[in-house]
Amino acid sequence: MHENAQQQGATASNADILIIGGGAAGIALIASLLKRQPGVSITLVEPSDTHYYQPAWTLVGGGAYAVGKTARPMAQVVPKGVDWIKAAVQGIDAEGRCITLDDGRQLSYQHLVVCPGLRLAWEQIEGLEQTLGQHGVTSNYRHDLAPYTWQLVQGLGQGKAIFTQPGMPIKCAGAPQKALYLSCDHWRRQGVLDRIDVEFNLAGPALFGVAAYVPALMKYVERYRARLAFGSQLVKVDGPGKTAWFEHQDADGNAVRVAKPFDLLHVVPPQVAPDCVRASSLANAAGWCEVDPGTLQHVRHANVFGLGDVCSTSNAKTAAAVRKQVVVVAENLLASRAGRSMPLRYDGYGSCPLTVEKGKVVLAEFGYGGKLLPSFPWDTTVARRSAWWLKATFLPWFYWNGMLKGREWLTRCTRPE
Ligand SMILES: Cc1cc2nc3c(=O)[nH]c(=O)nc-3n(C[C@H](O)[C@H](O)[C@H](O)COP(=O)(O)OP(=O)(O)OC[C@H]3O[C@@H](n4cnc5c(N)ncnc54)[C@H](O)[C@@H]3O)c2cc1C
Repeated sequence: MHENAQQQGATASNADILIIGGGAAGIALIASLLKRQPGVSITLVEPSDTHYYQPAWTLVGGGAYAVGKTARPMAQVVPKGVDWIKAAVQGIDAEGRCITLDDGRQLSYQHLVVCPGLRLAWEQIEGLEQTLGQHGVTSNYRHDLAPYTWQLVQGLGQGKAIFTQPGMPIKCAGAPQKALYLSCDHWRRQGVLDRIDVEFNLAGPALFGVAAYVPALMKYVERYRARLAFGSQLVKVDGPGKTAWFEHQDADGNAVRVAKPFDLLHVVPPQVAPDCVRASSLANAAGWCEVDPGTLQHVRHANVFGLGDVCSTSNAKTAAAVRKQVVVVAENLLASRAGRSMPLRYDGYGSCPLTVEKGKVVLAEFGYGGKLLPSFPWDTTVARRSAWWLKATFLPWFYWNGMLKGREWLTRCTRPE
């Protein structure tokens, strides 16, 4: 790791392969590259001391997983032999093949992999940041708040519980409703669900983006007697006043604002591309890193690849998607460095294990265009106990011991004709 801050603006090094972000995508990719080409020179830029397994935060919020098991020191997961620069990228100059760090240092590179995830835009909801973590306002999208969700769920014996979902894209599009299902399941088991008015406000027009999974999910919405409010977007929160404001459009297209009182408010914030990508020439009009959906190579800069949540691709932004993308990027990047044609194409696979009750999951697995891509030879559009075991036991273990170590299981990819 570079410990000494260098002179403002000075070029700190010339990286062979430079990776921005040591999350699920960055660490898994490094492991996969080193497996294919031991000794290849890799520089990682990652500011955080801690690496998180975010998919288990929903379980933490439902009282089904210990929060401590979702975090490990970054130093433990960064593979050996990698030059880790503990800083954040502030600017990317793709034409000049160079990045600027938040301490002013500059790094040039030959090949760049962009995988800093996405940014949770809490500030887009008025009053939210001041009240998160108190007054009954929580979110499973933060490591420190998922335990507060469970505390609130256990403490609620009657009243009104509101769950929210912002506009797409967001990471794990099923996570907002997973919070609702696990909370309702607890209230049902405690015999208090009849006394709790449950409402799910979704900015979009559908419960889930892939229609095949909706009937199984609707069965649970009905079982929990949750009301669905489509096209209803959270815009403002007053924690001490226990009131949330939502906007929807009336029949004439005018924005209408409605105040709703709550006892528990589970918020999922709007999600945007990180500023360093959004402000660079790598971004598409919406700010995301503009890559080819198949090869994951940048559409304008052949020496740049994108990976994970930051990508412009239409897949579900999930760690499951990363699992498959990593193999594609590792193969295609090394081939393109060697002057060979790129051998692999990503099919848009992503997966969302919907925890509909404690002990059962609807395992949604699909690719581009909503094509169902089940990993197992049985009907995955219904809730199953085996899928809960996969979600709560196998996948966390596999993440730390498989995916982050370059073990590429369940990653079959498409080779071009
Ligand atoms: C509540 C919740 C539930 C989820 N459930 C599931 C699930 O059930 N199944 C599933 O597959 N996925 C799930 N996900 C999604 C999954 O966690 C993400 O899709 C996955 O982590 C994406 O990997 P990534 O590497 O692109 O981003 P991340 O894992 O978020 O990593 C990004 C990294 O980049 C670093 N970084 C940020 N900015 C910069 C910068 N400027 N410079 C350098 N580094 C930077 C960050 O510190 C971080 O380490 C869930 C996520 C949440 C929050």
